[in-house]
Amino acid sequence: MATEPIDLRALDFAETVAFARDQLGQPDYRGEQIWRWVHRAGVCDLDQMTNLSKELRAQLASRVSLGHLRVDRVQTSRDGTRKMRLLTRDHHAIESVLIPDGDKLTQCISSQVGCALDCQFCATAKLGFGRHLDAGEIADQIYRGRALVAEVEPGRRITNVVYMGMGEPLHNYDQVIRSLRILTHELGANLSYRRITVSTVGLVPGIRKLATEPMRPNLAISLNAASDRVRDRIMPINRKYTIAELIAAVRAYPLERRRRVTFEYVLLAGVNDSRADAAELARVLRGIRCKLNIIPWNPHPEAPYRRPDDRAIAAFQAEAKRHGLPTYLRTPRGDDIDAACGQLAARQDGQTLVRLGKSTR
Ligand code: SF4
Repeated sequence: MATEPIDLRALDFAETVAFARDQLGQPDYRGEQIWRWVHRAGVCDLDQMTNLSKELRAQLASRVSLGHLRVDRVQTSRDGTRKMRLLTRDHHAIESVLIPDGDKLTQCISSQVGCALDCQFCATAKLGFGRHLDAGEIADQIYRGRALVAEVEPGRRITNVVYMGMGEPLHNYDQVIRSLRILTHELGANLSYRRITVSTVGLVPGIRKLATEPMRPNLAISLNAASDRVRDRIMPINRKYTIAELIAAVRAYPLERRRRVTFEYVLLAGVNDSRADAAELARVLRGIRCKLNIIPWNPHPEAPYRRPDDRAIAAFQAEAKRHGLPTYLRTPRGDDIDAACGQLAARQDGQTLVRLGKSTR
């Protein structure tokens, strides 16, 4: 039986060097060269590895794949946000979003096909769960993003990465950690942990485990309610890990100097947007070095919510600030192309959303 090719993109640096040494009989510097081609240059074709001999490239071709994602579609928003629809080798569609903001260019990446956690306001949730992405597929979103940026805005670089696209990163813990190791390696994409944020809805064991990693990304918590009564309703994960348990795990997360936890709060009219909610939120978060990002609901057809009016949004923000919570209003980015927070669902043009397993092939 033919053996599956090894996906070079999913190996970390030490594994790549070991593979070149043990499987190909090459000195360590060859492994390093291969690594640079895959993760620094982001090549999609072994023949682009021009400092490797033809024989070595042929040997590689018989043993490995580059596992890259295929860019299926790019949409550009009126605000400059770009959304890529990417296809995996097994024909699943995922999305990744590039968000320019002055000198900053943030890429929002996905960690799963669909999602299992069923947050009631989220379009991805309506897809259901497809599968976890592997570390190579997570990292490759950045390489496809870099290639797109080089094409449309030469000279510009991706400065920040957020694990905030489709899926719950801590549900796919091992592959997410592996992807962080790959993306931050100095001979590869060389991203800084300080510029990477992992956003979770609150998988408490995952947060505790992340706290013990030698290198940690920034932490963001998608909180969206100040009471269990409301959070239970809009985020089923809260029935497993209450707000008190979640906040205790966040308080124990080690923060380096000048770093703070971000709390995301999707504002839903009549659900979690009252002044009393803002005051309660400030009380719950008291003593945590943090900031609150308010995200007024970005509508999509799959959820029954409404966006609060501007007065209600301003009143909520003012009340949270009055209680000492640093609070920022996030303007929706890319909402005209369904690229804003909570809208990612890998739709085809004009398509209504169909659950995974029925529509993605
Ligand atoms: S908000 Fe995040 S965790 Fe919740 S369903 Fe959507 S993708 Fe999953």
